[in-house]
Amino acid sequence: MATITETFNPELQQQMIDYYQNYQINPPAYAIFAAKTPYARITIYASGKIVFQGSNPEQEAQKWQNSTNNNSNTPNNLPTNFNQLAIIGSDEVGNGSYFGPLVVCAAYVAKEDLLFLKELGVKDSKELTDATMQAIAPKIKAKVPHQILVVNPAKYNAIQPNYNAVHMKTVLHNRALYLLEQKLNNHQIDGILVDQFTSENNYNNYLQQETKQPQAKIYFTTKGEQYHLAVASASIIARTTFLDWFTEIKKTTGLDLPMGASAKVDLVASQIINKYGINYLNQLAKMHFKNTEKALNLANKKS
Ligand code: MG
Repeated sequence: MATITETFNPELQQQMIDYYQNYQINPPAYAIFAAKTPYARITIYASGKIVFQGSNPEQEAQKWQNSTNNNSNTPNNLPTNFNQLAIIGSDEVGNGSYFGPLVVCAAYVAKEDLLFLKELGVKDSKELTDATMQAIAPKIKAKVPHQILVVNPAKYNAIQPNYNAVHMKTVLHNRALYLLEQKLNNHQIDGILVDQFTSENNYNNYLQQETKQPQAKIYFTTKGEQYHLAVASASIIARTTFLDWFTEIKKTTGLDLPMGASAKVDLVASQIINKYGINYLNQLAKMHFKNTEKALNLANKKS
């Protein structure tokens, strides 16, 4: 049995305690915390000494070694080798677009799929064109277990009065993460990374009524796509699902709807009101946006 001994600062000790919550065992004398994973038994002593002991203690120790002087690329709340772990990531698209659905996607990336995704060109979706994302999305979907939730405008408008935007996103992320975790019963899951859209406190508060929640530890960070390919994959799948909605609308109705919430959006919305009536907009747009009022004003001027 191999042993690795380290001394870490209290901040890192706390991160370890949070990280190993699900593996917790009774600590021995003079220890403040102990956990047992498939690779090692990890013991944190009050003195600051950390002992990794077991069949493969490097597997656990390397997650934390050098983290105090090597976290320039990783947010403080993530383990240092976070981008190498098996992670479920989640992201949403469509929140700021008047036309179109709100799409949330959770995606699971196993360690052995990281290289495939990297070679495929998966990265921060802001660095990719829509065409590139549409070309690689089918390959990502075929490789990566995922859960997509699409809230079409009519549904969105029906539930929006009871859920502010953050509450709705929180519930959707939670549901996508929960459903995906259910599908992954035999996979190793080192954690969940939510591309952060609200504080951790807010997120947890909005979930108080939700009885079904994922079990893995949840990390939150903005720009989550940069820290794990699971979030980048989720983001690309969500974005292309959002784009597919517009393609489908164009095919079935002939309407070429703009994305976003610009003046062009107001104009197109006013044309729809004039041609089909305001109720038809309810199927296409998020009605609580200010664009609805602007479009009605434009429509009135013409009629
Ligand atoms: Mg996001």
